[in-house]
Amino acid sequence: MGFALGAHGIRRAIPLWFLVIASQLPDWADAAFCFAGIRPSPQGILSHSIPAVALLALGAAVAYSVAHRDPAGMLIVAAVVISHALGDYFTGIKPTWAGGPMIGLQFYRRPVIDFVIEAGVILGGWWIYRRSLPESRRTTEPVFTLLGALIVIQIGADIFLSLAKGIRKC
Ligand SMILES: [Zn+2]
Repeated sequence: MGFALGAHGIRRAIPLWFLVIASQLPDWADAAFCFAGIRPSPQGILSHSIPAVALLALGAAVAYSVAHRDPAGMLIVAAVVISHALGDYFTGIKPTWAGGPMIGLQFYRRPVIDFVIEAGVILGGWWIYRRSLPESRRTTEPVFTLLGALIVIQIGADIFLSLAKGIRKC
């Protein structure tokens, strides 16, 4: 999520909502498989493995290019999707490819710590975004409202995704 906002700061042409979805895409793919009753094994192979993330990144970039002729923007969109997977390798453990090893540092597994670190990344992304604004707008209210809104969306998505998985038991 923080990467989404940072990316928006770097390239304002890409809508922020699109980048927010891109930054959570592998988790939404997970939830979609879960609701469809598909239980891939090992968990995450269809959403977080290297080929899956590459496909999702490509899909997001192509979706973006439908609306915008912007090759650099496509790369940024793909990078935001990939940043999600890199974050997960850092914080959890994810499959690499079918039959491949599981990799990940499992740096933290508790949702609260997860949230604190994500909030830090959001703050960093927000800082980059804020610096992309003209001086006179940097301390205006919408800039701070945006930061609050992103954190609320992050909390909402975390709760929704963990509840969905709990209800469907996947
Ligand atoms: Zn994930």
